[in-house]
Amino acid sequence: MVSRVIPVDPFDLTIFGGTGDLARRKILPGLYRRFRSGQMPEDSRIIGAARSDLDDNQYRDEVRAALKEFVDRDRLDDASLEGFLDLIRYVSIDAMGDAGWKELKAHVRPDHISAFYFSVAPSLFGPLAERLHAYGMADQSTRIVVEKPFGRDLESARELNRTLAEHFDETQIYRIDHYLGKETVQNLMALRFGNVLFEPLWNSQYVDHIQITVAETVGVGGRGGYYDRSGAMRDMVQNHLMQLLCLIAMEPPSQFDPDAVRDEKLKAIRALDPVKPDSIVRGQYTGKGSTPSYLEDVEAEESNTESFIALKVNISNWRWAGTPIYLRTGKRLKARQSEIAVVFKDAPHSIFGAEAGRHRNILTIRLQPNEGMTLGVTIKEPGPGGMRLIDVPLDMTFAEALGAENDQVTDAYERLVMDVIRGNQTLFMRGDEVEAAWAWTDPIIESWDSTDRKPFPYEPGSSGPEESAMMLHRENRRWREIRE
Ligand code: NAD
Repeated sequence: MVSRVIPVDPFDLTIFGGTGDLARRKILPGLYRRFRSGQMPEDSRIIGAARSDLDDNQYRDEVRAALKEFVDRDRLDDASLEGFLDLIRYVSIDAMGDAGWKELKAHVRPDHISAFYFSVAPSLFGPLAERLHAYGMADQSTRIVVEKPFGRDLESARELNRTLAEHFDETQIYRIDHYLGKETVQNLMALRFGNVLFEPLWNSQYVDHIQITVAETVGVGGRGGYYDRSGAMRDMVQNHLMQLLCLIAMEPPSQFDPDAVRDEKLKAIRALDPVKPDSIVRGQYTGKGSTPSYLEDVEAEESNTESFIALKVNISNWRWAGTPIYLRTGKRLKARQSEIAVVFKDAPHSIFGAEAGRHRNILTIRLQPNEGMTLGVTIKEPGPGGMRLIDVPLDMTFAEALGAENDQVTDAYERLVMDVIRGNQTLFMRGDEVEAAWAWTDPIIESWDSTDRKPFPYEPGSSGPEESAMMLHRENRRWREIRE
């Protein structure tokens, strides 16, 4: 099946932090793939802007090296690579001072769509917004893309929103959460609202509970300092898991447009109950063999920061009252896996008797690896010997099912950057959404900050602390296995 690639209008995209890790690993490779697919007009410009003192050609060499490292070999052909590098410019700039701003302005063409990607530390968001305004690059059509973290609590998020609002309207601000750019996440909306089959069952009458797991095998790596001030709740739950929860739990929007979708997400966040202390399990990984412990990774003698968290969340509304949503995320776990599982209730009466066992329909939405959805259905085990039941998956791995060529499976970042150029904010977080998410998160964090309670230790390569399994066990439920 060949997908249609609809070119966007020519644009000038400035990447503040264009020499940084995120630009090299995600933003530039994504842009390259969009260029290669034919979506990006050749009259576009990509302007790297960062502190290093480089000229255009030196920056192109850096971009070339990044693409060679982070783009699949079979998608790197010389013609596309050179064509893409032709679009690249570089400006050495100081976000906190005046150096480089006039040069940048000379590159940004007033008759093109202009977007500025803030791929720098959040402390620079305000100074960048201010200077874009002061140097005459912020008109009504300008778009800015803001990376996470968006604040570290409600107060700082409000402050950031206020600062950006001094220079840009909400319709110009694209707060990125790359989970929303994943193919499966959008497919979740297509599944819920494009079929008649699921929505009638999508409520507490038929759904026993929902599990959202984002498991990583890596430790905190080189980000130890940042992570130790943040922890899994701030780094993952407040944003990524919360966004997934919203899309699962929200009411059907009246249309697929930015404000209609975001209004429904906001209502879902506002309906979340405060979380009770016995519905939270925090963990911190220990060392094992040559694998360093969390404390060694962050180079600290002591730390109460969680590298794992599991939570039971209740939503107080007609649709979900009585159906808990369990959230779990952590580092150095058994496998790298992001998954949403909707676990339906037992059939009201089993006509097959107790020996047929317990069978439940589970809809699994896999975000990584191998994006796809699986619906577990119960059927008769083939063959003679009576009515034995087994659960089999109705599997839809997108790349296979759609016969998608590599080029059609787009990475989250590239999809989202193209949405910025198209001016479509549906998959970006609105300011009030982010604030509502922090308003729910803050008391949870305060509840452990005020008690000095230590996270439970867990071994690298495990599924997190035992207490996390026990939290579900107490309610006669169990976590799905973490596996690739
Ligand atoms: P990085 O430290 O690798 O790069 C920082 C960039 O900012 C460099 O290009 C540097 O030149 C530039 N910079 C720093 N001070 C500057 C100044 N005064 N003026 C102009 N440029 C300046 O950081 P990163 O890992 O690329 O992260 C960038 C942003 O993206 C951060 O907000 C981070 O939290 C967020 N983020 C990163 C990742 C990731 O995987 N790296 C993932 C999600 C979010």
